[in-house]
Amino acid sequence: MNQYDVIIVGARCAGSPTAMLLARKGYNTLLVDRATFPSDTISTHLIHPTGVATLRGWGLLDRVLATGCPPIHTYAFDMGPFTISGAPGTRDSPVAYGPRRLVLDKLLLDAASEAGAEVRENFTVEDVLRDGERVVGIRGHASGGQTITERARVVVGADGLHSVVARAVAPEHYNEKPRLEASYYSYWSGLPMNGLFEAYDREDRAWAAWPTNDGLTLVIVGWPFAQFEANRTNIEGHYLEAFERAPAFEERIRGARREERFVGAAVPNFFRRPFGPGWALVGDAGYNKDFITAQGITDAFRDAELCANALHESLSGVRPFDAAMGEYHSTRDEHVLPMYEFTCQFASFTPPPPDLQQLFGAIHGNQPAMDGFARVFSGVTSPADFFSEENVRRIVATAG
Ligand SMILES: Cc1cc2nc3c(=O)[nH]c(=O)nc-3n(C[C@H](O)[C@H](O)[C@H](O)COP(=O)(O)OP(=O)(O)OC[C@H]3O[C@@H](n4cnc5c(N)ncnc54)[C@H](O)[C@@H]3O)c2cc1C
Repeated sequence: MNQYDVIIVGARCAGSPTAMLLARKGYNTLLVDRATFPSDTISTHLIHPTGVATLRGWGLLDRVLATGCPPIHTYAFDMGPFTISGAPGTRDSPVAYGPRRLVLDKLLLDAASEAGAEVRENFTVEDVLRDGERVVGIRGHASGGQTITERARVVVGADGLHSVVARAVAPEHYNEKPRLEASYYSYWSGLPMNGLFEAYDREDRAWAAWPTNDGLTLVIVGWPFAQFEANRTNIEGHYLEAFERAPAFEERIRGARREERFVGAAVPNFFRRPFGPGWALVGDAGYNKDFITAQGITDAFRDAELCANALHESLSGVRPFDAAMGEYHSTRDEHVLPMYEFTCQFASFTPPPPDLQQLFGAIHGNQPAMDGFARVFSGVTSPADFFSEENVRRIVATAG
C-alpha cells in the first residue's frame, strides 16, 4: 500500500485537470479510471468560450487545435418565426470548440501524467477506506486483478453521475429535479456548419448541430422525458421526424450521411455537498444538470481549478480543510445556480411565458442583445443579469 497526498477517481474533464493542477503544485497524486484511453463516453462535447479560455490557461488549447477541430464563432437559435444569432464569447476568448471526447479526454489524461501524476487506467474503485468518519484511501482492482488498497490524505471523486465515491460518503443532495428530457445524437458527414452552432426549438422537439473532428457534424435531438419510453422503440424515426419542422435544415441533412450509431441519454438534476472529512467531489459527481445548455465540461474545468486550489490551501497548511473546501462549495453553487435553473427551464419543453416570448421578439435583430443571449447560453453572462428587470427594459425599449 502506498501513501499519496491525493487520489482522484475518474480521469475525464473533472478528474484529469484536478490531478494535473495538483501534480503541477508538487503533490504526490494518483489518478485512476476503470476505462482505458482514448475512450469515448456518452456525451456530446461543445466547449463554450470560457472552457476554451481555461484550456488556454492550462497550456492545452494548442493541443486541441492541433487535432483539426474547427472553431465555432456564432450560436444561432432558430425559434421558428425568427433566429437569434450571436457571438458567444469575449474579446479574449471569442470562440467555442467541439472536440470529440475520444480526443479531449486522452489529451487531458496525458497532461496529468506529464505533470507528474501517477496514472492507472483499467482500475476500478470499489469503495473508500475509512478511519472512523474520515476517508483515508481507496479499495479497488485492475481488470482481472486482486484487490488493492491505496491511502491518501484526500480522495477526490471525479467519477461522474453514478460516483462510487459519492455513494460511499452519502453526501447531502439538494435542489433536486427529475429527468426532464431524453436526447439522441450521432455524427454526420456532408453537413458543413461554417463556424456555426445551430439550435432549433419546435414545441416538443429541440435539436442542435455543430462541427467536430474529422469533418463530421454532431446532431443531437431531444424530446420531453415523458416521451422517453414511447419513443425508444423507433429512435431513428423520431430523430429524423423532428427535422420536418424546419424544412431548410431537413434539406441539408437529407444530403448528408450518418456515420455512426445513435447514442442517447437522460440525466437527473441535483447538487451534492462536495466535501467532507478526507473527501471531495468534482464535476458530475458533485453537481449534475441536463445537458441541453452544454455546461458540463466547462463546469468540470472550473470545479477542477477551484477544488485543486482549495486542496492546495488545505494541504499546504494555509487554511483548514473545512474553510478552504467550504469556499469551493459556496463559489461553485453561487456560480452555477442561475444557469442550473435556466437549463432546467429549457429542458422542460414548456413554452416560454408570453413576456419571455415578447422579449425574444425584441432581442431578434438587435445585435448587442443577440450577442448577449448567446453569451447567456455559453455561460459567459449569468441569466440573472441578462434577464434582470433593468436589462429586459433596455432591450424592449430599444426594440420599441
Ligand atoms: C448526452 C449528453 C450530452 C452532453 N453534452 C455536453 C456538451 O455538449 N458539452 C458539455 O460541456 N457537457 C455535455 N455533457 C455533460 C458532460 O458529459 C459531463 O458534464 C462531463 O463529462 C463531466 O465530466 P466528469 O469528469 O465529471 O465525469 P465523466 O465524464 O462521467 O467521467 C467519469 C469517469 O469516472 C470513471 N469512473 C466511474 N466510476 C469509476 C470507478 N468505480 N472506478 C474507476 N473509475 C470510475 C469513468 O470511467 C469515467 O471515465 C453531456 C452529457 C450527456 C449525457
